[in-house]
Amino acid sequence: MEVSFHDEIAKLKLGEGATFHGEGILAVTKALLQSGVAYVGGYQGAPVSHLLDVMVQARDYLDELGVHVEACTNEASAAAMLGASINYPMRGAVTWKSIVGTNVASDALSYLSTAGVLGGALIVVGEDYGEGASVALERTHAVALKSSLWMLDPRPNLATIVHMVEKGFELSEASSTPVILDLRIRACHVTGSFAARANRAPAVSSRHRLEGPPEFVYERLSHPPATFKQEKLKAEVRLPAARRFIAAQRLNEIFPGTEEDVGIIVQGGLYNNTIRALQLLGLADDFGASRVPILALNVVYPLVPEEITGFCAGKRAVLVVEEGRPEFIEQDVATLLRRADLQTKLHGKDVLAQAGEYTAEVIVRGLARFLASHRPDLGTAPGARWLEAIEATRTRAAELLGPLPPRPPTFCVGCPERPVFAAMKLAKREIGEPHVAADIGCHAFATFEPFSQGNSILGYGMSLASAAGVAPAMAKRTVSIMGDGGFWHNGLLSGVASSLLNRGDGVLVIMKNGYTSATGTQEIVSSPPDDAKALAREQSAAHADRSIERTLRGLGVKWLRTVHTYRVAEMAKTLKAAFAAPEHGLKVIVAEAECQLERQRRLRPQVAAALKAGERVVRTRFGVDEDVCSGDHSCIRLSGCPSLTVKDASDPLKVDPVAHVNNGCVGCGLCGEVAHAAILCPSFFRAEIVHNPRWWDRAKHRLRTTLIGWLQPA
Ligand code: SF4
Ligand code: SF4
Repeated sequence: MEVSFHDEIAKLKLGEGATFHGEGILAVTKALLQSGVAYVGGYQGAPVSHLLDVMVQARDYLDELGVHVEACTNEASAAAMLGASINYPMRGAVTWKSIVGTNVASDALSYLSTAGVLGGALIVVGEDYGEGASVALERTHAVALKSSLWMLDPRPNLATIVHMVEKGFELSEASSTPVILDLRIRACHVTGSFAARANRAPAVSSRHRLEGPPEFVYERLSHPPATFKQEKLKAEVRLPAARRFIAAQRLNEIFPGTEEDVGIIVQGGLYNNTIRALQLLGLADDFGASRVPILALNVVYPLVPEEITGFCAGKRAVLVVEEGRPEFIEQDVATLLRRADLQTKLHGKDVLAQAGEYTAEVIVRGLARFLASHRPDLGTAPGARWLEAIEATRTRAAELLGPLPPRPPTFCVGCPERPVFAAMKLAKREIGEPHVAADIGCHAFATFEPFSQGNSILGYGMSLASAAGVAPAMAKRTVSIMGDGGFWHNGLLSGVASSLLNRGDGVLVIMKNGYTSATGTQEIVSSPPDDAKALAREQSAAHADRSIERTLRGLGVKWLRTVHTYRVAEMAKTLKAAFAAPEHGLKVIVAEAECQLERQRRLRPQVAAALKAGERVVRTRFGVDEDVCSGDHSCIRLSGCPSLTVKDASDPLKVDPVAHVNNGCVGCGLCGEVAHAAILCPSFFRAEIVHNPRWWDRAKHRLRTTLIGWLQPA
């Protein structure tokens, strides 16, 4: 069961002149429809998951328009979809999280950019960079440069973002080149308004089909010898065409200021933070009007030489505000200034931080250094006071709070993946420490305390492949962890097929929770159907056909076990068996149990409806009998559940805090299972909370209370 995007879909249907109000990423989705996009594909990932999630749920409406939507199995298949725009006048858009998704897609992107496009092709990437980043911190800009893909980085302002989507398609068509729309987390989540336009049904689509393929033109294939010509086209035709379009359409914005002898060149995506920094320095008003002139690059590649030199001419110095490394824009600007023989001093990474997110604080520090060198008369005292105030607050907070313990992210309460790592901890007591190849997904939380399991992460679905070089050098088998999302994304071929081909001999644990949970619980090919009846129907047919187990057997995996994840003792036993099995070959354990987040999403409305209807509902909760708890907290170290915490003992003779289950408990039973499997103190109890009890519940309760009363001394 997925989150409902009912309200978002209503916003996609807004007509001419209506006011759209919402988040940046939804504005992009609406802008695609206003641009007459014919097909959309992608692979979900923060911060752009919303685009595809909403589109998938809006299929009925999109069918009316003739827009085809595809939830692709990985970014490579999404990128390859853009091949439709090579030969046909069809606008297409794909989306994924970058840099990781762009890496996966890069083969298809190379060929696509080489062949060029007839219809506009837009690649919407979420640049997951900065403090909230969950991937390697690298720049998509590098891919744009090496493949000659144009790159937009719009100001985080809804009207600008929508304008850049629409112009992005035109730029793509004017220069026969795919265009990347780069969105930072802040751009995706910024809220605002814009005047909507009517959605455009595409001229060529599932509703208006083509009779057949175009005339055969070898030059449209990215294949030698056509590639030799295409390389020249990229440099001599497409690049100048793009620059002409960018200049003519004024896609980059100049904000004049009174202090004309200095200036700032900023990536569009960093414009808001730069304005905030200028305000803090006393150099911009509350409405964002800056005294220092600004060139906001809504297109960061290619730069238009005349725009750069025109902005810099007559200035004693300019500062390039560019996040991430290397400083591609700064290098590009330096080349253009040198070629034009302009003596404007150029600053960027020499005064700004080399790495990390460019928050307003970071930019204030850099701007202050820049202005101190070139315009000390402008004064930066307000900024200095603000920085001092921040430092004072930090110092005071540290004094009051003392050193804070690290708070790493962790599995949801009741997550079905946590028990597998508890079982691994138990199994390791006998088999010793194996090399653990970790992967991308919720299970990567096991790399943190209290599990600390994982020696490497090499990419989504790459764990088994990453163990291939390690395994032959190890005295004991390696274990690779993979989610079902990762299995279908890449792991099936890169890991399993490769291991079978090379007669690998490792252990693979596949977390079969039913969804790509880490990216928002999107469906995968092996997801269970929505309701129980459908599940029963499908289990006998198509659903079973595409199960992970059947796929593995079809490939030739002989040693295969499916274990329910909450059965900790059985899981530990199966892990030990996989390590001890005498036969050579890949051993796969499918760890099965539904993602708790999805389970709760499904159950909560059902429980609420049953309670409202006065039906009998039983909720299971676990608890710790503090009289029995020995206070050694082994259960916490083994299960790691955030609901399993500590509290002061009410017995004054117990000096250590006792274990305690708080109200967040979803009753998954793991703590009890772990206590049993690890032979810990018998302090866990299971309680049933009965809502709307029937007469027999009350009778049982009375009987039990009476019996306990007899047995307990007064
Ligand atoms: S989203 Fe699902 S799989 Fe991921 S941590 Fe939460 S319960 Fe576990
Ligand atoms: S039963 Fe135990 S492990 Fe499961 S949610 Fe409750 S406290 Fe956490």
